[in-house]
Amino acid sequence: MSRRRPARAGNGRRAGGVSGADLRREIEAKGINLFECYTCRLCTEEMQRGILTLTEPYRKAFGEAEWRRDLFNEPVCPTWDYYRHEAYTAYGRALLARDLADGLAVDPADPRLREVVYTCLLCTGCQELCFSRNRVPLMKPFMELPREVWDIHGILLAERKWLFERHGWAAVPEGLAALAQRILQSGTATGEPRRGATRWIEATGSEVVDLSRAGRADVLLLLDAQAPYERALWPALAAMVRLLRAAGLVVGVLGAEEIATGLAVLACGDVQDYLRLNHEAVRRVAQVADRAGVGCVVTVDDTGYLAWTAPAKHYGLAGDLPFPFAHAVPFLHSLLEEGRVPLVRPVEMEVVLLDSCHLGRYSKVLDAPRRILARVPGLRVQEAHLRREYLYCCGAAAGVPEAYPAQAAWWGRKRLGQAREVLHTGRTVVTTSLVCGAHLRRIAAGTGDALEVRDLAEVVAAALA
Ligand code: SF4
Ligand code: SF4
Repeated sequence: MSRRRPARAGNGRRAGGVSGADLRREIEAKGINLFECYTCRLCTEEMQRGILTLTEPYRKAFGEAEWRRDLFNEPVCPTWDYYRHEAYTAYGRALLARDLADGLAVDPADPRLREVVYTCLLCTGCQELCFSRNRVPLMKPFMELPREVWDIHGILLAERKWLFERHGWAAVPEGLAALAQRILQSGTATGEPRRGATRWIEATGSEVVDLSRAGRADVLLLLDAQAPYERALWPALAAMVRLLRAAGLVVGVLGAEEIATGLAVLACGDVQDYLRLNHEAVRRVAQVADRAGVGCVVTVDDTGYLAWTAPAKHYGLAGDLPFPFAHAVPFLHSLLEEGRVPLVRPVEMEVVLLDSCHLGRYSKVLDAPRRILARVPGLRVQEAHLRREYLYCCGAAAGVPEAYPAQAAWWGRKRLGQAREVLHTGRTVVTTSLVCGAHLRRIAAGTGDALEVRDLAEVVAAALA
């Protein structure tokens, strides 16, 4: 066990005015003790150990209904799965954070350092299994315990923040840096001007009010920096608008004033610009929502949802929004529960649902997509073995496809394989994340895979009269 703080708590040499001690301070300010890792390696080895070790108390603590025997021998961490080297796990990355805090000097141009840090998909698979994080909520029913002192996701983010503050863009892989800079400079993932955010409206004939000009709406639909500029995602946007309109809602969008929440900027470790971007976006949305009489702001982007609902220790804006805010999937679910969206047309097909890391695992929106799909007449829904909290990240997150395309494609192919193995006659994959959908669609097309990737909204809208 290496839980005791070593005597040498060196500050290291300063670069950019930033020292190892600053990383320790950043992490401790989140309430995290860098030496509380149990070195249990659940995040390193296969699911088997995790499930066997934690099963009963884990199920009770997190309200899970089943003991997942089907997960035995499955790796949870995609980078462990790919590299089979401990440096590429939560444990390895936490040890790196500890060494950096102790003054380890690293060369930001070292490709191995970059690969260890930035291939991590920030998918929170390790957070889900981590024993040191789980033991407090697990034991709560049985004894008084101190506060949580370990949060691997908080450490992974702090590590990137520190590397960025110390070394700037020099530490960030080229593809990820280019994506983040496009978002910072143009407000779009593609780099095109934001006025392009209205092209999908005309192309799909969607009935929305462009609130950047004038008008009123019941719902302000946020599209964020990717979906309105990526043609393959337009059918999903149009489908979501049709569903909301079927519930009798007037749907507004920000048009040429569309926001960007910029998870890629956070993935670079540029927390300052990430927060500035998001505070500006919240201000813009608040002004428009207030003027247009909007009842609820709804985002279609799971990374945007994360940005505005994550706690401050994960650099999110939770509790800092002056308007009601929801993701489109749970929002649609609540409309269906109220009987406001008539799904009457049979959709005779077999699909497999793939949960997403940000919306599913991190934000725990896991039941809503299942309940929505269960309401579609004729639809047969299959579940991937790696599902719900134990989903396997498809490789779309954290700018990894831009920085490490070969690895991201490997994870995408593996995820599609997990979908294929539970489909009997169908060939349709349903995703709850536009970001995952775009990535998986590209992988399927690039490999000539017969699987078709569709957004949940597209499948559900097919059941409208
Ligand atoms: S966030 Fe995902 S990729 Fe990164 S260490 Fe955890 S499980 Fe592995
Ligand atoms: S990070 Fe968590 S799961 Fe991984 S070795 Fe440490 S305590 Fe165990």
